[in-house]
Amino acid sequence: MALSERILMGPGPCNPYPDAVAALTRPMLGHLDPEFLTVLDETNERLRQVWHTSNRLTFPVSATGSAGMEICLVNVIEPNDAVVIGVNGVFGERMVEVASRCGADVVRVDFDWGQPVDPGRLLAAHPNPKLIGVVHAETSTGVRSEIADLGANKGDALLLVDCVTSLGGIPVEIDEWGVDLAYSGTQKCLGVAPGLAPVTVSDRAREFIVERPRSWYLDLNLISKYVDGDGARAYHHTAPISMIFSLHAGLGVILDEGLESAWARHEACGQRLREGLIDLGFELFAAEGHRLPELTTVKVPDGVDEARVRSRLLREYGIEIGGGLGAYAGKVWRIGCMGHTARLRNVELLLAALARLV
Ligand code: PLP
Repeated sequence: MALSERILMGPGPCNPYPDAVAALTRPMLGHLDPEFLTVLDETNERLRQVWHTSNRLTFPVSATGSAGMEICLVNVIEPNDAVVIGVNGVFGERMVEVASRCGADVVRVDFDWGQPVDPGRLLAAHPNPKLIGVVHAETSTGVRSEIADLGANKGDALLLVDCVTSLGGIPVEIDEWGVDLAYSGTQKCLGVAPGLAPVTVSDRAREFIVERPRSWYLDLNLISKYVDGDGARAYHHTAPISMIFSLHAGLGVILDEGLESAWARHEACGQRLREGLIDLGFELFAAEGHRLPELTTVKVPDGVDEARVRSRLLREYGIEIGGGLGAYAGKVWRIGCMGHTARLRNVELLLAALARLV
């Protein structure tokens, strides 16, 4: 089967939107060419629409989602700052690691994997933290945590939210929820190839940006002179032009479809997948009421060779799904319906294939 026929139903990357793929072949431009800068400005404006924010400092970091996490922490955290982080999976753990490397005094608040983060416990964990960090959509478990309560009750703390697996797939309301810093990745529900980390920073968070963060490449003071669009653009790094063309096109597809319609498409796929899996006798892993439509976790039935099933799905049907992480390696499958992959026909094909293979 041709690689181009692969259906990417893992936790990411998804199949990119065809327009986003085509945009990769646009003729190259210089990174300070006015035509490119227009596309960059439009991309940032499209990102503001998808993030539901008016934050001026909204742009794609030239690196993957993890760099989004790092840029948000390294620019505002100084040694000994108190940082509270909710951990209910791998990516909360990564946030703890990155904040620790910034020298923060991290208060780690753990929740069972498969459960959402409880805002009350997070808010009670420290009387006056500089920052509270949480993962909106935990890709290791398929769980959605609620953000609005954290924003409403954060006090003076900055609120940092990982939206790598949520942006473009489920509602993300940066301004309404009071989120100060957020990052995502292009390869999931935005329907673009991996390689960029859309980031948004509130004006309030900008007041906390340290003068010389412990990273040159991720220094927001320097990058903002390139992306902010104010006055002369200063060279910071050579932007990945083709990837920005691709993100510009992918966001265009989402906005043409309508953000709400894109969310509804992801929702319909997640719902049908959950129903179909239950009909086939599978047990879902994530707590009911907190399941992500774009990433479904399902327990591997006893006695099933899970790696063999995944390999046959790939070989015989051209469908990729993901295995479990950490303590759940070998115990769950993670099935993504993200971006262009989030189509009912893909869900039906996967269900039919699983019915034959398990
Ligand atoms: N955060 C979450 C929730 C993720 O799912 C991922 C990747 O899967 C990351 C962060 C890291 O993103 P990347 O692999 O693009 O660096």
